[in-house]
Amino acid sequence: MKRKRSLIAVQLSSQRKSMVLLGFASLALGAAIISQAALLSATVNRLFVMKATLSSIGVMLGALLVVMLVRTLLGYMNGRIGLKMAAHVKKAMRSELLHKLVNDSLPTARGGQTGSKVSVMLDAVDEADSYFSQYLPRMIEAAIIPLMIAVAVFTQHYPSGLILLVTAPFIPIFMVLVGLKTKKKSEEKFDQLAEFSGTFLDSLQGLVTLKLYGRVRHQEQAIKQSSLAFRDATMGILRIAFTNTFMLELIVMLSIGLVSLELAIQLLVYKSMSFDTAFFVLLLVPEFFSLLKNTGVAFHSGRTSMGAVRKVEDLLETSNEDKRDRNTMDAADKLDVDRMTTHPMPPSIELKHVRFRYGAGSFELAADSFTIAPGQKLAIVGKSGSGKTTMLHLIAGLLRPLSGEVLVNGQPITNDGDAYWSERVSYITQHPYLFAGTIADNIAIGTKRAVTRSEIEQAAASAGLSTLISELEKGCDTLVGEGGRGLSGGERQRLALARAFLNRPAIILFDEPTVGLDLQTERVLQRSIGELAKQATMITVAHRLYTIRDADRIVFLENGVLLDSGRHEELVSRLPQYAEMVDIQRKGRLG
Ligand code: ADP
Repeated sequence: MKRKRSLIAVQLSSQRKSMVLLGFASLALGAAIISQAALLSATVNRLFVMKATLSSIGVMLGALLVVMLVRTLLGYMNGRIGLKMAAHVKKAMRSELLHKLVNDSLPTARGGQTGSKVSVMLDAVDEADSYFSQYLPRMIEAAIIPLMIAVAVFTQHYPSGLILLVTAPFIPIFMVLVGLKTKKKSEEKFDQLAEFSGTFLDSLQGLVTLKLYGRVRHQEQAIKQSSLAFRDATMGILRIAFTNTFMLELIVMLSIGLVSLELAIQLLVYKSMSFDTAFFVLLLVPEFFSLLKNTGVAFHSGRTSMGAVRKVEDLLETSNEDKRDRNTMDAADKLDVDRMTTHPMPPSIELKHVRFRYGAGSFELAADSFTIAPGQKLAIVGKSGSGKTTMLHLIAGLLRPLSGEVLVNGQPITNDGDAYWSERVSYITQHPYLFAGTIADNIAIGTKRAVTRSEIEQAAASAGLSTLISELEKGCDTLVGEGGRGLSGGERQRLALARAFLNRPAIILFDEPTVGLDLQTERVLQRSIGELAKQATMITVAHRLYTIRDADRIVFLENGVLLDSGRHEELVSRLPQYAEMVDIQRKGRLG
């Protein structure tokens, strides 16, 4: 696939004004450096060679002071422009990344390691900093000022100018050679860092699960491995960087030595030049090389940045591809939105020869065609791993079928992240997520429209949260989620229900809890769900007998195959696997 304009190029064009400013500042800086050398050599010449009195050179000393001040200011200004550019670019990149992640379809946004995404968002973007704050300003300076110095030296003493011309190219040539090697290394380093933070963050997030399954030791090893790999990659880069610096210093020192030697011979042996010319050249030569040398360091950090920027581009691109897929379906979606806004009734949902696979050779789900009438209560049952959740996600449009289609009111759904879908569907998972915020915020997340405080309280009451809220000092404004108060599993489920009550969904997807809830929650759940389901289509991954019994239709899955579907009594009499499951359930409940 052809890459669009690279991220750097896009950002550069947005920073054109700063770059022009940098160019002008560099020109002025070059002029200041040359004037400083000229003034200094002239002053020293007057004072020590021509034995002038201190008072007669007062003006020159004053001018020298001013030039030095201007030079310092210009250097500071260049630094500021670079930092400002970097800040702008980082902000732009972060907001673009965030925008992409927020707007991605659920499967894309959830795919991959959260930790590695976080590390791209934070570290990769931070590494991009030095491209704009270091690399660019140094490169612009290096493109302008050494040229000015070389011209100045040539006009004064062309053999020294020639030496500069001959030795200078060694520095960029050398840098390119080393830079190519570092680039690969730094990309490697970034992969290692991403892997390291990914492993680390995911381990932290899943710590409870890891502990439950006794996998902590194993994970500790994994973290150790990836941190060692990261260390090695970093050391590799440092090794190259240090050798690089050493070699650059060597070349620079040799070149300055060469010019000094040549000046000394001209001055002392052939007496073919004046002291102030020689001194002027001698002052400028180290400036010349130090500017080129700076580019060496800048080049190195620029390369590292490029590696990091590539990561950001990759992340943005995966999202883009997904987006393109989606855009093609937008027209169809729009039709659907219209239909749905004019028909507040629950839609009919039709599955047509849906097949789905997570990947080649993995679990496969195949469901024959069936229709879920508006307002129907559908229960999906089957053993664990039979594909119940997968089917629920297919109906929700969270997963896209491999072949066949899911039709809502006769229109195909491609609802990843679409507003109409999230407004009409409530998905009550087994483990509802608490966002950092107040209880009221968390309930209001369930809907896109503006809601009043009393609506939120009403929804909380319907979901059986009133008692809990009245016991809390700050009531609905109590902070929960990360950094706030925790809620029990049952309370979370009720909060999810409150979200659904506020949303008044036309379709409810319900992943019934497999673990036993406390009696009260169980009762609230039953009552509230019943209440909600009155005006909605209800699709439940069911584990509880009374849910199954009351369903209008039960879909029985075995190893990803839809074996049969019908009402409870029908299935009991004609599907032995179903009868057996019901039997086990009944015994479980009694025992
Ligand atoms: P159930 O809800 O009935 O327990 P699921 O629909 O969750 O079953 O899973 C069905 C099968 O698909 C299982 O074998 C599971 O391992 C597999 N599976 C579930 N999610 C994924 C995934 N994201 N990638 C690959 N395989 C998956």
